[in-house]
Amino acid sequence: MPRINLLSQRLANQIAAGEVVERPASVVKELIENSLDAGATRIEIDVEQGGVKLLRIKDNGQGIHKEDLALALSRHATSKIAELEDLEAIASLGFRGEALASISSVSRLSMVSKAEIGDDASGWRVEAEGQDMNARLSPAVHGQGTTVEVRDLFFNTPARKKFLKTEKTEFSRIDEIVKRIALSRFDAQFNLNHNQRAIHNLLPAKSEQEKQRRVGLVCGPSFVENSVRVDLEGAGLRLSGWVSLPTFSRSQADLQYFYVNGRIIRDKLVTHAIKQAYRDVLFHGRHPAYVLYLECDPSTVDVNVHPTKHEVRFREGRLIHDFLFSSLHKALAQVKPADHFDGSAMAGSAATSSGSPSDNYGGSVGQFVGNNSNYAGGQAGLGNIEQQSHLGLTEPRVPSYYNYGSTPSPAAIQNQLQSLEQLSGENSEVPPLGYAVAQIHGIYILAQNKEGLITVDMHAAHERITYERMKLACLNEELVMQPLLVPLSIAVSASEADCVESKHQDFKKLGIVLEKVAEESVVVRQIPSILRNSNVEQMIRDVLSDVLEYGSSDRIQAHQDELLSTMACHGSVRANRQLTIPEMNSLLRDMEATERSGQCNHGRPTWVFQSLDALDKLFLRGQ
Ligand code: ADP
Ligand code: MG
Repeated sequence: MPRINLLSQRLANQIAAGEVVERPASVVKELIENSLDAGATRIEIDVEQGGVKLLRIKDNGQGIHKEDLALALSRHATSKIAELEDLEAIASLGFRGEALASISSVSRLSMVSKAEIGDDASGWRVEAEGQDMNARLSPAVHGQGTTVEVRDLFFNTPARKKFLKTEKTEFSRIDEIVKRIALSRFDAQFNLNHNQRAIHNLLPAKSEQEKQRRVGLVCGPSFVENSVRVDLEGAGLRLSGWVSLPTFSRSQADLQYFYVNGRIIRDKLVTHAIKQAYRDVLFHGRHPAYVLYLECDPSTVDVNVHPTKHEVRFREGRLIHDFLFSSLHKALAQVKPADHFDGSAMAGSAATSSGSPSDNYGGSVGQFVGNNSNYAGGQAGLGNIEQQSHLGLTEPRVPSYYNYGSTPSPAAIQNQLQSLEQLSGENSEVPPLGYAVAQIHGIYILAQNKEGLITVDMHAAHERITYERMKLACLNEELVMQPLLVPLSIAVSASEADCVESKHQDFKKLGIVLEKVAEESVVVRQIPSILRNSNVEQMIRDVLSDVLEYGSSDRIQAHQDELLSTMACHGSVRANRQLTIPEMNSLLRDMEATERSGQCNHGRPTWVFQSLDALDKLFLRGQ
């Protein structure tokens, strides 16, 4: 049995580094955080060979006193906390006092600093040497602030070094870290250079527009164009930032930035709350994109959970969850067609009037975006439109069931003429989604407003409207029931029949009276009157198969919505139903008044807007 001995300083620090310094990007994170804690407003990051050869972070912060320099490199040395109470309400990014010690134990680190106050004309350099990491000081020239240079990372810990990926990969991690931090501090300037090449130069962003530009640089311009600005307060909490419209979703959860008091974190509770807020509007299996800032009393959140400080613990998790959920749920519900045209709720309203043709075509609320990462991507875009119109010319696809026969009534024609007159009148108010002009292929409604052309997927739109109405009715327990004159019996599987029996009450809440009458047979006695015109048998079958998927009772709400959504889908106007102009117009008005009407229950867009500008460009008008 070997005897016990005290580890050398360096070895102890290297063990700590195991947690804190995983790769070059973690060094960059710690050093930038130190600069920000020192009040820096300008941070320059130089990287060579993916950070393995060199990382240099220069700031214009308060600097470090000559007497403190040696201490800064030792473990458990920090200026950010002094007592246990300080740990209860941490306002700085760092506080553990181990980053510099850890980093310098696994690299060749030198730090030059000049303090804000004090009579040192120039600065001082400090390096740690030997097994016990004694600090060596020497004079050096430096302006106010600090420069930390980290060379040959992991030169003395080859095992760690083996885990590093290619230069490109390591640099992209660094890039990601810099971007994340840049989104948390709009007031600071960040310059990032790799192998002497400038990668980012993010100037301080003060105005709303400058902030949006920075978000656009980091998250891509289409994110800003397709997101809603939120800023909500309540229960001592504040939530602000940008959340993507449901129709701008991603296949991966990669565009999700969440900050708590300026610190980026990953938290299950937060992710869940946000996901839930999108539940009703997001296409299946897609992920929302967001940049969100939560501000709360520092004493209500414990940041001392993990050495890298990526995780936090909320003292009142439930409260945070509910606040996030309800704020975002509301924000998403309130996106109405009108916002698109007055530009108030849309972060990127500018996109409708300027930009390249393809931007214009897709970049509007609309919900279709000419970006591949979107659900609708690839379906929109200039190229496709051209292609489609050619197709239309050479081989017109007219389905046999297409109803040519229905001649509009004189009243309908009158109504249409009036609408169009209203449209051209100078002072008359035109509703956001305009007036219907025609229905094509039994699927789409074409409408015009003052700005351009609106195309509506009539089934998708009606589905959302029906759904929202049913939810409201369900909520108010006002769902009007309609007993069936002749009860409808349906043959089902044994497990479906059992499900009917056990979920009897749930169905009743939804306005359906269903009974199991035999091993494999159920009877429908009553349905919500809102669905009286739909195919009841098919609807019940769909609803049943949905119900079978949900087991646990805490899913009732989701499950109810799901049921309502399925019912709404099956109860809504099907393609190929001929609508009159007044019917179409009333659908447009309903859309304007309905929450979340920009997407159907499955997250697909319900309408697309093309500005006259965009149309002109399509036809090379005025060029
Ligand atoms: P922590 O950030 O947890 O306090 P660090 O090891 O990262 O621990 O840094 C130790 C101390 O060194 C900090 O508390 C701070 O006083 C000082 N320091 C580090 N970097 C800077 C900097 N860029 N500017 C000014 N002071 C710094
Ligand atoms: Mg630190």
